[in-house]
Amino acid sequence: MKNISVIGAGTMGNGIAHVFAQNGYPVNLIDISSASLEKGMATIGKNLDRMIAKEKITTVDKTNILANITTYTTIAEGVKNTDLVIEAATENSALKLKIFQELDKVCNANTILATNTSSISITQIASVTKRQDKVIGMHFMNPVPIMQLVEIIRGYNTSDDVTGQIIDLSKKLGKTPTEVNDYPGFVANRILMPMINEAIETLYNGVAGVEEIDTVMKLGMAHPMGPLQLADFIGLDVCLSILNVMHDGFKNPKYAPCPLLVNMVMAKKLGVKSGEGFYDYSNSRKAEKVAQRFLK
Ligand code: NAD
Repeated sequence: MKNISVIGAGTMGNGIAHVFAQNGYPVNLIDISSASLEKGMATIGKNLDRMIAKEKITTVDKTNILANITTYTTIAEGVKNTDLVIEAATENSALKLKIFQELDKVCNANTILATNTSSISITQIASVTKRQDKVIGMHFMNPVPIMQLVEIIRGYNTSDDVTGQIIDLSKKLGKTPTEVNDYPGFVANRILMPMINEAIETLYNGVAGVEEIDTVMKLGMAHPMGPLQLADFIGLDVCLSILNVMHDGFKNPKYAPCPLLVNMVMAKKLGVKSGEGFYDYSNSRKAEKVAQRFLK
């Protein structure tokens, strides 16, 4: 596998493009929004600067890595002659089905189509293509350049050969691939999201404030980041979509999203990417006051 296309230049897409480009792969980064492409490329630049400051790469490396990435605003242009597409667009099943239908039409017959979805059925996404054996989940973790894990999700019809190729490729990126089966939320989010949702519910019920909840989990459970801050980093819209997929998929009320989460997403308080979530990222003001606006 040589040429890689990444769809979506948001939180995950720019990180995925960064890691492939850093490992010498030519990457086509595609987003319908040119503002997202600009922001994504700026984020990659900033992350590379951080690596220069830590003496992990040189300024020449930075130039070469950025030169490996070409940006596009249409899928058809950005997937020409590509060996692997990794879709990292917004977590919305209708959108992903539409993208995969288009990919199946415009990509070469042997191109592997991977999705970075956090929760949506790989089997369902594959079902809209005529290459179900070549559709697979390649679920990177946030922030992609730092996190070791890639959750590899086989759809019902994903072939052994394609699974093997994606596992090998993940290892070439210095990551640790871990294979799981295709059920809502897979493994990572099936365990993580109920914890985040419970943390939000704990805040919503007035048991403790934002900082207190995060402090308990950081210092008491040795988590590097509290669940509310982690939710801000993931994106509250992404958390809500994942919970909805698990709630619909399992028909189990334990996955029902907390009303405070629903309210914050409707109010466009999406976390780091919108500048405000449980914490305020425009200055150092603590978020407790912010989130209280939405408490009952
Ligand atoms: P995001 O909202 O930060 O970015 C999504 C990007 O997709 C946006 O830039 C948007 O313009 C673009 N987009 C929307 N429709 C498009 C289309 N038709 N064609 C091309 N681009 C399009 O989202 P994100 O957090 O990067 O999530 C992307 C995917 O990765 C989701 O499936 C999500 O579940 C998954 N994921 C997210 C995280 C996380 O921590 N945020 C972690 C692992 C996986």
